Amino acid sequence: MKELTQAEWHRLLTLFVADAEDMRPALMKPFEQDGYVCATNAYIILRVAKRFISEDFSTDKHLPDVASVTPEHNPISAITIDTLRGEFVRQKIDYDTTTADCPDCDDEGEVEWEYTDTDGDKHKMWAECPCCGGTGIIPNGINKKCQVIGETIIVHYMLLLYHVMFALGVDKAEITRGKREQILFHIAEGVDVVVMPCSNSNK
Ligand SMILES: [Zn+2]
Repeated sequence: MKELTQAEWHRLLTLFVADAEDMRPALMKPFEQDGYVCATNAYIILRVAKRFISEDFSTDKHLPDVASVTPEHNPISAITIDTLRGEFVRQKIDYDTTTADCPDCDDEGEVEWEYTDTDGDKHKMWAECPCCGGTGIIPNGINKKCQVIGETIIVHYMLLLYHVMFALGVDKAEITRGKREQILFHIAEGVDVVVMPCSNSNK
């Protein structure tokens, strides 16, 4: 695995944190726990051994117990960077970027809203796009799904996995299935990604 600068680690960790729209302020920054620096939006976790990170992410906030949702490394399969790229190409995803223009507001950040009052009169106004929170951008691949070891996963999360593997120059991640259907991707010693698949009702 390639050695990364602190700025590169910071960039990778930041890809996995919750954004303001997620309403989970404690998860908007990476945090230190059990000898790891963790970044998560509650659906995907990047966990990096503390020895790679010099920045101080210690916190006294109440945070999810990452160890309890991270399966023991016991691989049943593996995924390569070529397989991931092939899937992104098939789904017409530009895999070099983790964000995309919002298709609802056409990256303007505003859409036209209509309200009908009690007299039946209609009122229109331009206001913040609810799909991108007014930013004009959305996570790339957030509305697409793919299959990994029989589970349905949001393509954006596979794109985040890909960006970590690519940055570290790792060609293959080993896959372990957890007891709650969560999937562990072991990228390198001390570097793991855990993803929750879509629930069965969304398949
Ligand atoms: Zn939008």
